[in-house]
Amino acid sequence: MARALKILDSADVSNTGLLALAPVAISTTAARKLNFFNLSRTALGEILSKEFGLPAFRSTQIFQWVYRKGITDFALMSDLGAELREKLALCFEFPKAEIATRQISSDGTRKYVFKLSDGKLVEAVMIKQPTRMTLCVSSQVGCGMGCKFCRTATMGFVRHLSAGEIMAQVVGVIDDAKEFGDSFSNIVFMGMGEPLHNYKGVLETLHILTDHHGLAISQRKITVSTSGLVPAIRDFGTHKAPANLAISLNATTDEIRSRIMPLNDRFPLAELMAAAKDYTTVSGKEVTLEYVMLSGLNDSAADLSRLVKLVNGLPSKVNLIPYNDNAGLGFQTPAKAWVMEWRNKLVSKGINATVRWSKGQDINAACGQLVTESARQKKTVSAERRPSAGVVR
Ligand code: SAH
Ligand code: SF4
Repeated sequence: MARALKILDSADVSNTGLLALAPVAISTTAARKLNFFNLSRTALGEILSKEFGLPAFRSTQIFQWVYRKGITDFALMSDLGAELREKLALCFEFPKAEIATRQISSDGTRKYVFKLSDGKLVEAVMIKQPTRMTLCVSSQVGCGMGCKFCRTATMGFVRHLSAGEIMAQVVGVIDDAKEFGDSFSNIVFMGMGEPLHNYKGVLETLHILTDHHGLAISQRKITVSTSGLVPAIRDFGTHKAPANLAISLNATTDEIRSRIMPLNDRFPLAELMAAAKDYTTVSGKEVTLEYVMLSGLNDSAADLSRLVKLVNGLPSKVNLIPYNDNAGLGFQTPAKAWVMEWRNKLVSKGINATVRWSKGQDINAACGQLVTESARQKKTVSAERRPSAGVVR
């Protein structure tokens, strides 16, 4: 818990309130090329103007080549002059994340493990739904929030992903999907990591994804899920971030929520629900409340009544998620009939409630099952680093 809260202190200072895209200072003589996938069209335009004296429409042209036509070779960008194409090729690169493994579930869901430039691994999932596919991306390597029911938490926080690394998952899956003749219509930030802890990287990514000269993904089709970082939720609303917001509520009392989500000690339910309400007011959007049902812990009849009260007056929908089993974490999945009873009761109270049945469970691709480094491995590494550590097994 201490680790989770320590991480939040640094997040509060440096990683929230950063909607404005910082100008990128570069030099064409720099040894390292710039990662194109890190750049919004505005940031690209600033670089082109500063470095090459080019007008803004050039960034639009290049964005269209890359994101609409899938061309990342400047030599093929036929509406740019030959000399300019050569200069651009010296300045930018398009580092794609390597697909280390790809698994396909019996339900058609695909799980990708991407290898980043420093060798770290992250997972993205193409979730097969009846009428569409949804891409679930990671925003961090590991996660520092410490939720007790989630396998990603066992990795601890390793590092944030840059916008370019999140975009590399998107572009990588688009490329790979050609083999299957499909693509995704929706994107959710529900993979590894807490997206609002990586506020800057995620916001930059949202601007790139929704750019109408690029992939032009509608902000209504993108959802960012947070475990409840209140200051970032407020920022997200105030700055009209181009995405929907989902909040992982997961309990109806502070006692239980703090027990399963250490972050609740820092931002308890009353503060969280006030931020959710204010978010809906300033953004004009509804909020989704996710509720992982853990049998015998947060799914009693009393919990259901409290949930109805919490949701009262909040423009929202409730997404019930039956716990996806992670062996060894000590939680139980509720019976399907009980989940449906909860859903029906919520609906009977006029609440828009749905159930997220797990997808890709046979390949550990369901919510809360993503992990790329075992907890045991992690513990061994930290034990080795401790000066007083004796025998390391
Ligand atoms: N960090 C963000 C987004 C990633 S987790 C967040 O917590 O919201 C995405 C969703 O999976 C969250 O709603 C989380 O509560 C849920 N989840 C985590 N572990 C789970 C599990 N074992 N079974 C079902 N849902 C789980
Ligand atoms: Fe992190 Fe979300 Fe897992 Fe909690 S549920 S540990 S916030 S990824």
